[in-house]
Amino acid sequence: TTYAAAPGRYDRIPYRRTGSSGLDLSAFSFGLWQKFGKDYPYETQREIILHAFDLGITSFDNADRYGPPHRAAQKVFGQVLKNDLAPYRDELILSTKAGNPIGPSPYLKGGSRKSLLGSLDHSLRDLGTDYVDIFYHHRPDETTPIDETVGALVSAVQQGKALYVGISNYPTDRAHEIAGLLRQAGVPLLIHQPRYSIFDRRPEQSGLIDTAAADGFGLIVYSPLAQGLLTDKYLDGDVPAGARAQNSAFLKPDVIDEVYRQRAAALNKVAADRGQSLAQLALQWVLRRPEVTSALIGASSTAQLDHNVKALDFPPLTDEELALIDEHGVH
Ligand code: NDP
Repeated sequence: TTYAAAPGRYDRIPYRRTGSSGLDLSAFSFGLWQKFGKDYPYETQREIILHAFDLGITSFDNADRYGPPHRAAQKVFGQVLKNDLAPYRDELILSTKAGNPIGPSPYLKGGSRKSLLGSLDHSLRDLGTDYVDIFYHHRPDETTPIDETVGALVSAVQQGKALYVGISNYPTDRAHEIAGLLRQAGVPLLIHQPRYSIFDRRPEQSGLIDTAAADGFGLIVYSPLAQGLLTDKYLDGDVPAGARAQNSAFLKPDVIDEVYRQRAAALNKVAADRGQSLAQLALQWVLRRPEVTSALIGASSTAQLDHNVKALDFPPLTDEELALIDEHGVH
C-alpha cells in the first residue's frame, strides 16, 4: 500500500529548539535500538516508524550497532525510507552513531578517524541516504586524542555526509571540552545524548544539564521510560509476554524486584492522582527541563506511541508532585 503522511501531523506535539542552534526537534524522538532488525516482522517495524511520523515525530535515531544483529536496524529503516518516506526526506532528522564496538576489528570501535568515517559511510549505504542530519560519536574514547575525534566529526560535515554533529554518553567535563574544540573548528556541537529518567539523575547530578545550557548544545535523552520500567507493565512484578525484560541483553528480569515494585507503585500513584499513566508522567518529567530538547523513546507497538505522545497534554508538574517523584524515584 502506498503511504501518505497524515496531513495534521504538525499540530499534535511541540517542536523544541536544540540548544543555541537553529534546529527544532520534535519533543519526542524515536529510536530503533531494540526490536528493529531481523528478528521481528518487517511490516510491524514499518508500521511503527510510519506511525511515529504521522504523530509528528520528525527525529529518528539510529546507530551502526542497532538490531540485532548490528547494522540490521539501519537496513530496515533504509527500506522504509526507500519505499515510503523518500518523498519526506526533507522533513526528517535522521541520526546515526559510531564508536561503540560492533565487532572485533580495531576499526569497528573507538573514536579514531578510521572508525568514525568508515562507519558513517557504511551507515549511509545501509540507510540509503546521502547524508544524515546528525552524526554522533556514540561514547567517549579516552585512548584516542580528542582532536582526532573532533577532526573526524568536522570532516563528516565538510564532506556533506552530516549536517550536524553530536556526542553520546560523554561525561560532563569531556562534553564541555569537545564543545569548545568543535566551536573553534567551526562546527558547533548540536546535541548530547545521555541517559536520563526519574530513575537516572546523573545528567542533573553531574552538572551536564547546566553545562548544556552554558555551552549552547541541546540534550536528547534516551531511555526516559527506563526501558519500560517507568510504565505500568511490570507493576505487579511479572514480566508480561513479549515485554523487553523477557528477551533482551540490556534489561534483565531480575531488576523487577521488591524494591522496584514499591518505587514504581508509589510513582504510579503520583501519576494516577494527576489522571495520567506512569509512562506519561515519566516523559513529562524529563521534558520539564527546557535544556532537554527531545525525549528519545522506543516502542514495540503503535498503541504505545499513541499513549506516550499524550504525555504533554497534561498540566505541568507542581512542586509538590516533583518532591514526591524525588522521594520515590531516587534510590
Ligand atoms: P524507553 O525508555 O522509551 O523504552 C522503550 C520501551 O518501553 C519500548 O520499546 C517498550 O518496550 C516499552 N514501552 C514504551 N511505551 C510503553 C507503554 N506506554 N506501556 C508499556 N511499555 C512501554 O527507551 P529505549 O530504552 O527504548 O531507548 C530509546 C532510544 O534511545 C533507543 O532506541 C536508542 O535510539 C536510544 N538509546 C541510545 C543509547 C546510547 O548509548 N546513545 C542507549 C540506549 C538507547 P517493550 O514493549 O518491548 O517492553
